[in-house]
Amino acid sequence: MKHLIIFGPPGAGKGTQAEKISQEFNYKHLSTGHVLREAINKKDDLSKKIIEIMNKGSLVSDDIVNEIIKQQAKDNKNKKFVFDGYPRTLEQAKYLDTLINQKDISLFNLIVSPEEVIKRLSLRKRDDDEESNIKRRLEVYHNNTDPILSYYKESDRLYKINGEGDIEEVFKRLKNLITN
Ligand code: AMP
Repeated sequence: MKHLIIFGPPGAGKGTQAEKISQEFNYKHLSTGHVLREAINKKDDLSKKIIEIMNKGSLVSDDIVNEIIKQQAKDNKNKKFVFDGYPRTLEQAKYLDTLINQKDISLFNLIVSPEEVIKRLSLRKRDDDEESNIKRRLEVYHNNTDPILSYYKESDRLYKINGEGDIEEVFKRLKNLITN
């Protein structure tokens, strides 16, 4: 099986689906957002800076995020990864190329309308889920992700997935592609 990257705007269900994939197929679920939220429980200056960036809905620097990926790759050498929230910039995608051959990756783009995203995120209660912030994160997402999708467009394993509907339905769509 291939490593997987799940793209999709905030609220598309990347985390939920990545978690289901990791359980069903024994993948290592790697959410950079999750690792960052865990890391910033420390009250040092760097943590405070990262919290500020995340609460604004901006992206944490490529260096910090790539370092997380490097460490996780080192700690989970024989695992297949399902990446959730990474790569978020072209620089990160290029960095990932140095760790994993693109031929060994399948990419899923979860498509969810902006209206549905806003609806879902207003039900979730995370510190960075304020409404003004949601719009900014959607903007940041598209500005950064559209070039990444172009970067991978030569891949014959980049799939668009309908991310609307219930969790099990979306999972079934993904499962069909993973096991193919
Ligand atoms: P997420 O849990 O994926 O929605 O990420 C929450 C926040 O963490 C984002 O709004 C960013 O501030 C930060 N973050 C997560 N992943 C990345 C990444 N790959 N690059 C930069 N910032 C990230």
